[in-house]
Amino acid sequence: MMTALEISQNLTLARENTMIGNYQNAEVLYIGTLEMLNRFMKTISEPSRRNHWEEAQKKISLEYEKVKQLSQTLQFFRVKTKGDIPIGTRRFYRDEQPVRDTGDLNLNDDDPDVWAPPTPVEHNNFRGNGPNKSRISNVKKVDTKRKDSRVVSSTTGRRSDAKLKSTKKEERPSSSKSDRDQEPVEKKEETEEKKFECHGMDRELADTLERDIVQKNPNIKWDDIADLHEAKRLLEEAVVLPMLMPEFFTGIRRPWKGVLMVGPPGTGKTMLAKAVATECSTTFFNVSSSTLTSKYRGESEKMVRLLFEMARFYAPSTIFIDEIDSLCSRRGSESEHEASRRVKSELLVQMDGITANNEEPGKVVMVLAATNFPWDIDEALRRRLEKRIYIPLPSLEGREALLRINLREVKLDPEVNLADIAEKLDGFSGADITNVCRDASMMSMRRKIFGLRPDQIKQLPKEELDLPVTTRDFQEALMKNNKSVSSEDLVKYEKWMNEFGSS
Ligand code: ADP
Repeated sequence: MMTALEISQNLTLARENTMIGNYQNAEVLYIGTLEMLNRFMKTISEPSRRNHWEEAQKKISLEYEKVKQLSQTLQFFRVKTKGDIPIGTRRFYRDEQPVRDTGDLNLNDDDPDVWAPPTPVEHNNFRGNGPNKSRISNVKKVDTKRKDSRVVSSTTGRRSDAKLKSTKKEERPSSSKSDRDQEPVEKKEETEEKKFECHGMDRELADTLERDIVQKNPNIKWDDIADLHEAKRLLEEAVVLPMLMPEFFTGIRRPWKGVLMVGPPGTGKTMLAKAVATECSTTFFNVSSSTLTSKYRGESEKMVRLLFEMARFYAPSTIFIDEIDSLCSRRGSESEHEASRRVKSELLVQMDGITANNEEPGKVVMVLAATNFPWDIDEALRRRLEKRIYIPLPSLEGREALLRINLREVKLDPEVNLADIAEKLDGFSGADITNVCRDASMMSMRRKIFGLRPDQIKQLPKEELDLPVTTRDFQEALMKNNKSVSSEDLVKYEKWMNEFGSS
């Protein structure tokens, strides 16, 4: 269980990073704080306490927005220096990850509940500059060329599917001269990219969806995810293979309508969904159910319809619905409940609809859902989520792998014994381990800046702050961070999986 203390510690870290101008880390920490707060708030039912926390959430969101803006402004200059993009043409999207110095932290930067408000320019010009323009950008391409100007070149227009496919093949990462020479040709291709047009439906809603939910480059690969071999294998079989060889998965072998990932929070369910989308280069629709039921109040069912329509249009697609339990949740006000109910009915209708569609080769749409509260999911929805996979807490071996992944960008004292630390992290989730690593890697910096004023902190040489992480740092981090999943919860998952699981 998340505690207020942990949240405040994370917030302190975010602020500390901001103070020393480490905005990219600060951003990640703010996102982490907001994510923790979100989870924490779900456990509060008393209205006055809830209001109090909502206030805090608003304030932190504002703070985060400011830091983000600052960071984006700096990023803008950085990009300009590299000569990629002329000033004035670059736009930032929620799914466009800034270049980070600490690779371990970039895994957590994508809370669908915390979206940047669209800038007026972005909004007005969206038709010509939406994220969709580079939907077919291959993930691998962006991996090696993050600041690829093609990602931000503006586009509109339509073209046939055949053409879409041919472009897909041609887009490969390369920095060779001959490839660079060809860039104008590629750019031209991209300007002709297939574009979703909504017929008679609310266009603005479609724009919003494209901007906020279509995620081109989740950029998480199987190898970025520690452990979970069985889950990866099952997902490959249930989702990836039907996408790769749709002809085979017809009739009795039709793909599952939906796959549900069940497990304690922070075990990598979102990462797995992203990896699925990355590994089979599908268009990734990243939706959180609480977003569907709150952010677009009144428009929610339309939104669900549009979501599926878009997914079919851009097929093959993966629709990832996080926190799917909240669609069935009885928490909150009456109206919230009513909205959830309507969204859920629409979702059921749409999921039934994709079965027929999936028979068409190359047009597969896969629904991938995740929940930390499977027992809240009612029968109708559960039935549509035919395949149910358990995502467990990491094993000993997995914990060590997680430590390695998390610490790959920081210097480690040679004395540090990761196997020992992994042993001590028994019962910790992947996210808990990430928090421990983050905390440990900040310890020396914290000691250095303790009691100093911001101007003094600014003057500290970078080398003095960037010291190797020691065993002591880990010990301190371990004292501060507790596991977030209780053994009672684990028993509950086990029981549910025994009854309803299908892996
Ligand atoms: P969930 O969706 O299950 O709540 P996430 O996929 O959002 O969990 O994971 C939260 C964070 O925890 C990730 O951003 C990552 O830093 C870390 N994490 C969790 N599990 C793993 C894993 N198996 N491998 C690598 N990182 C992980």
